[in-house]
Amino acid sequence: MCGIVGIYNHPEASNLAYLGLYALQHRGQESAGIVSSDGKSLFVHREMGHVADIFNESVLQKLPGNSAIGHVRYSTTGESGLKNCQPISVDYSRGGLAVAHNGNLVNAQKIRAELEAHGAIFQSTMDTEIMIHLVAQSSKNSLVDRITDALKQVRGAYSLLFLTETRLIAVRDPFGWRPLVLGKKGDSWVVASETCALDLIEAEFVREIEPGEIVVIHPKGMDSYKPFARPHKKAMCIFEFIYFARPDSHIFGRDVYDMRKGFGKQLAKEHPVKADVVIPIPDSGLPAALGYAEESRISFQLGLMRNHYVGRTFIEPKDAIRHFGVKIKLNPVRSVLEGKRVVIVDDSIVRGTTSKKIVKMVRDAGAKEVHIRISSPPITDPCFYGIDTPNKDELIASHQSVDEIRKFIGADSLGYLSPKGLYWFEKNPGEWFCDACFTENYPVPVEETASKLKLANKNSR
Ligand code: AMP
Repeated sequence: MCGIVGIYNHPEASNLAYLGLYALQHRGQESAGIVSSDGKSLFVHREMGHVADIFNESVLQKLPGNSAIGHVRYSTTGESGLKNCQPISVDYSRGGLAVAHNGNLVNAQKIRAELEAHGAIFQSTMDTEIMIHLVAQSSKNSLVDRITDALKQVRGAYSLLFLTETRLIAVRDPFGWRPLVLGKKGDSWVVASETCALDLIEAEFVREIEPGEIVVIHPKGMDSYKPFARPHKKAMCIFEFIYFARPDSHIFGRDVYDMRKGFGKQLAKEHPVKADVVIPIPDSGLPAALGYAEESRISFQLGLMRNHYVGRTFIEPKDAIRHFGVKIKLNPVRSVLEGKRVVIVDDSIVRGTTSKKIVKMVRDAGAKEVHIRISSPPITDPCFYGIDTPNKDELIASHQSVDEIRKFIGADSLGYLSPKGLYWFEKNPGEWFCDACFTENYPVPVEETASKLKLANKNSR
């Protein structure tokens, strides 16, 4: 998963892009970058690490101009490393072109092999670079037509920002997997993955970029194009609501906070239990735990404290860090837990390792009973559209029943939100959402393996 932000027509474009990335840090913590334009040239800075560590005054001064795009990365295709930082910035026959991508393509391997067979040279192992090649090679004339031509060849999820010397172009794939919102700040335009980035820079939310829409922002204003054939459905990612987006954001036409609280309320209806306290796993389980507590009328308490100076441990690509991570991140509040029957609410179980450690931690702190409630259905299948879930065999729910998982994590009871309960807010979810991670119902056929190293491995053959 990644986060993207674009600023157009503002004297402090790169500063605002930096602040926007700050607000989107939860969407990717491996690397960050900004490309700016002063109307004549593009300037680029990309590094591994967190936004706050990468950008300072002297770096931002080297990113002049009135427009900029920025990116925070959490790898799905292409390993984590400097060559795979975004935005990608190139010079091609028409001038400078930079791109920032949130999503994941499902036919990248095939297209890359074709391009390489015709002599193309790649500098990264990211699927995003393929789109740049396709734009550069297109026989069409205008940039919009070139981008359309390129994107008609790729399959999968993409919310994109392109920057040239004079234009900012925002695109959302026809299925609308990933969010992308449009905002205004005085005479300046802002495009971002989530509205929390607009809030920070005091930009006003205008609307979402629609699935299948290309928005071109240029010196004379803004144009919208819808050149793609309408797909059979939309496929907005339900996991954005469950886990990924920030609860203070408004995406896919809804407030993420309300959605999460609703999941928690529904969960309480489906899996009630006699208990003394409801506690969230911070921060991901917080709104759902509030919903659970409100619906069940059990006291809501903060039974686990989070050290906020540690990132989302799961997101760190190295296994060793992840296993160590839970203890670094969370500490139990003994007075809340001792002698109590405790309901712990979290958003999801992936491998099951986090829940197992937390159950033990809460028991060690003196809890009498530990009941786990998960505000999403069991994750049985990997995501190929931009969420970095592991391979199927690493997903605990792909090969274990709910009771087996309960035993594995050591809980007294375990309850998942049902697939029906997940859609408490929607009558015909099948028309709108992608929930392949729970249903194996992939809206676009997956032509490739899930390995993020698929393009790298191919290279080393
Ligand atoms: P696990 O120990 O693998 O079961 O991790 C589950 C935890 O990871 C949950 O608390 C989620 O909040 C979090 N999580 C779920 N999906 C993702 C994801 N794709 N990337 C990062 N963290 C995730």
